[in-house]
Formats: sequence, C-alpha cells, structure tokens
Amino acid sequence: MQFKNLPYWHSNTELLSIPLTYIPKKIDVAIVGGGYTGLATALHLLRAGKSVVLFDAMKLGDGASGKNGGMVGPSLHKLGLEGLTRAYGKQKAINILQEGLNAIKYFQDFIKLEKIECDFKMTGRFRGITNQVALDSVLRDSERLSILKGFKFEELKNSDIQSEIGSNLYHGGIVYHQDGGLHPQKLVASLTEKIISLGATIHQNTLVGDIIKTPAGFQVQTNKGSLIAGDVVIASNGYTKKFSNKKLPYFYKRLIPLTSAMIATEKLPRETIDRLFPKKRMHGGNHRLVQYYRASPDNKRVLFGARGPDTRDRSLQNGKILKKHLCKIFPELKNVNIDYSWCGKVAYTFDHTPHLGKQDGLYYAIGYCGSGVTRSIYMARQLSRRILGKGNHYTAFDDLPFRKKFFYSGTPWFMPTIIKWHSFLDRIDGN
Ligand SMILES: Cc1cc2nc3c(=O)[nH]c(=O)nc-3n(C[C@H](O)[C@H](O)[C@H](O)COP(=O)(O)OP(=O)(O)OC[C@H]3O[C@@H](n4cnc5c(N)ncnc54)[C@H](O)[C@@H]3O)c2cc1C
Repeated sequence: MQFKNLPYWHSNTELLSIPLTYIPKKIDVAIVGGGYTGLATALHLLRAGKSVVLFDAMKLGDGASGKNGGMVGPSLHKLGLEGLTRAYGKQKAINILQEGLNAIKYFQDFIKLEKIECDFKMTGRFRGITNQVALDSVLRDSERLSILKGFKFEELKNSDIQSEIGSNLYHGGIVYHQDGGLHPQKLVASLTEKIISLGATIHQNTLVGDIIKTPAGFQVQTNKGSLIAGDVVIASNGYTKKFSNKKLPYFYKRLIPLTSAMIATEKLPRETIDRLFPKKRMHGGNHRLVQYYRASPDNKRVLFGARGPDTRDRSLQNGKILKKHLCKIFPELKNVNIDYSWCGKVAYTFDHTPHLGKQDGLYYAIGYCGSGVTRSIYMARQLSRRILGKGNHYTAFDDLPFRKKFFYSGTPWFMPTIIKWHSFLDRIDGN
C-alpha cells in the first residue's frame, strides 16, 4: 500500500506562519499544549486582557487536535445513565450526562459567534448495529437518556438502513441528532490566527520541563529558556507522558494515553460517496474497538478511524488493518487506494470522565477519553472563567475524584492485551 504518512487534514490546510519571538521574562499565563484546549483557553484569557505564552513540544496541529475525525457531539458518558447512577446516584448521573449536551450547545454557539470557518455542519450521527440483542440494548439506553434536555434520537429498522448508509453490514441502527462534523485542522488554524491577532506568543517545538513554584510565580522551564508565569495551564492531554520526561507525575499517572489511527481513501467518484453516505452524516458502529467513519467535508474521500492495534504509532501497519475494517463495512472499496494514514494520542481516565481543576497551583483540563473536539472547547471556556474568577465555571465533573491506580505509572502496558481481547470478542460477535 502506497500512502502518505500524513494526516489528510494537513494536505489541504496550512497554518498561519507563527512569528518567531523570544521567550519573555514574565507573563500572566503560560499554557502547556497547543491543541484546542490550550488555544481556546488562550483566546478567552487574551480577550480578558491577560498576557499569554503558549508552548507546544511539536508543531501546532501535530497533536490530536489537528488529526482527529472531526466529529462533534454530546459525547455521552460511556457508563450511560444506569452505570453512572450506580456510581454517583441518579441526579449526579443526569448532571454528568447533561454536561455533554451543554457542551455541544456551547460549541455550536462558539463556532458561530467566532465566525470560525471549519466546514462545520450538524449532520447527525448514524450508529450501525450488527445484531438485534445489541440494538435492543442501545435503544433501551437511548430511551433512558430522553430524560436529558435536548437529547434526540431516532431508531432505524433494517428496511430503512439503505437511506443512511450503502452497507449491508448492519441489522439496524440509530441516528443521534445532536452530532456533526468539521475539518479539525481548519479549527486549529482559525484559533491560532485569532490568538496571534490578540497578541499571544506561541513557541512551537518547545518542550516544557520543570514547573517550579517560586515567590515571584511559577518558573516554567523549557528547552529554549524559562519564564515566570502568574498561572500555568496544563493542556497536554494524550501527550502528557510522552513529553513529560518524568515531570508532571500527578497528571500522567491519571491519564491512559491510547493511539487512535485514521486513513483516507483516494478521491472517489461523487456517485460512490453519495451511495455510501446518502445523508453525509458522521458514522460509527457497535464494535468494542471503537470505529468511526465519514465522508471528507468536500465529499471526495472516505475517512475511517479506529483504535490503533497497540499503543505504538505505526502508520503503515495501522493503515493495512484499518483498510480491512473499512472493507467489512464497504466491500466495494476493496480495490480503492489509501492515500493517507496517520495516528495520534488520546487520553482516557479511570472513570471515563474528563477532568478540570487546579492541582499544586496548576490549572488543567484533560482526559477527554477519545471524544475531545466538543469537550475541549467547552472545558477551555469553563477553565478560563475559573482562572479569571469571573462567570459560572461549574462543570458536573468538578467534584469527581481524579483517580490513579496503584499499579499504574502512565504507560498502559495492559492495553495490547485488552485490545486483543476486545477484537476477539468483536470477531465472535461477527463484527
Ligand atoms: C486519530 C484521532 C481521531 C480522533 N477523532 C475524534 C473525533 O472524531 N471526535 C472527537 O471529539 N475527538 C476525537 N479525537 C480526540 C480529540 O482530537 C482530542 O480529545 C482533542 O483534540 C484534545 O485536545 P487537546 O488540546 O486537549 O490535546 P492535543 O490536541 O493532543 O494537544 C496537546 C498538546 O500538548 C503538547 N504537549 C504535551 N506535553 C507537552 C510539554 N511537556 N511541553 C510542550 N507541549 C506539550 C503536545 O505536543 C500536543 O500538541 C481523536 C483523536 C485522534 C488522535
């Protein structure tokens, strides 16, 4: 397979060139990480008159924010209403789930208000289900969720499926109407442009190491120099351990970095895209190993993503495996070339919940569990309100303990076994 080891999104979107500057001696807020969390937090803080320096160990867009599937939605908690009720009681469970709908509402307003051009459309999401038992369970869960304000779903019987997808794989399905899609790198580009115009200093390819509390503020040390910051925001998500060099142990011991991988096909005829995706929605299935797919925003390619087979970033192997999964859904793509294959890091948490707060004086918003496009933009607003001490900064996640496990120090050695076990169960289920 001859494909480029490059995110498809980077092939058609350039980031604004970032002015080269010195690291200032003193700043109001230093931000570690230039994905959506860091960029959107910077935007709010700059608007409120704070001076901001944003550091990223890579080029902006090389983290998950510039590489993802571009799917937005309420990202309802994995445990569902029943599981969350068992863990926290009914009212708290509802609050946690409702937060997802608050986030997508805020996200839509944000994109509109900021006039961000990122091919954003509320398309809805079709989730194909391969057997009746799974369909009954998904429908039961969705009916329970009708208690949430703004939650809308629609059941699709086998006979209706062809109106949603050109595939015979699914027995039935469900459409979620509060979901949509966008071009992730265009969102990075737009946020970057905005914060530069507001006077942010951005240092790419700059690794933050020690962050030391001093009487004058936090001394933030990087491989290119250090500064004193009044406040520091940790927005490093799935890359926290990778770049930590044993710094920030509080965070990396609580985050499970996983690889998410994607491929993009060669350009396909418009009739093929229209047949495979008649409604141009976002798509997923009921596999234990997460799969997600869609047409590219220009309706020329199929984009397909899944959990990487292990925790390494191996685009060549991933590309081959992902193509096989894709062809199970759309056998007619067997002879189609894959043009791009790439992967990035997401961060899971032990309670499947994102976390936002302040630890040892450092602010953080982190752990989006693979669904971070909507959540990061929302959490960035709540976090910046908290830093500024203005506005309602409550989230339903605030009082959830951010747990670690005694056997875990930031490297998910157990994941390859879990991934193999899940793909075995998927095969048994015929998925
Ligand atoms: C292939 C893929 C597909 C995905 N699909 C979807 C999807 O369709 N929908 C969805 O909602 N979510 C999706 N996600 C998840 C989503 O992209 C992330 O949750 C979200 O982008 C997280 O944003 P962030 O700003 O918190 O982190 P990131 O965008 O990952 O940014 C973190 C940054 O921190 C930097 N950093 C870390 N440590 C340091 C340090 N010590 N010094 C300096 N810099 C540092 C890193 O270089 C990195 O750029 C996907 C992720 C991947 C990888």
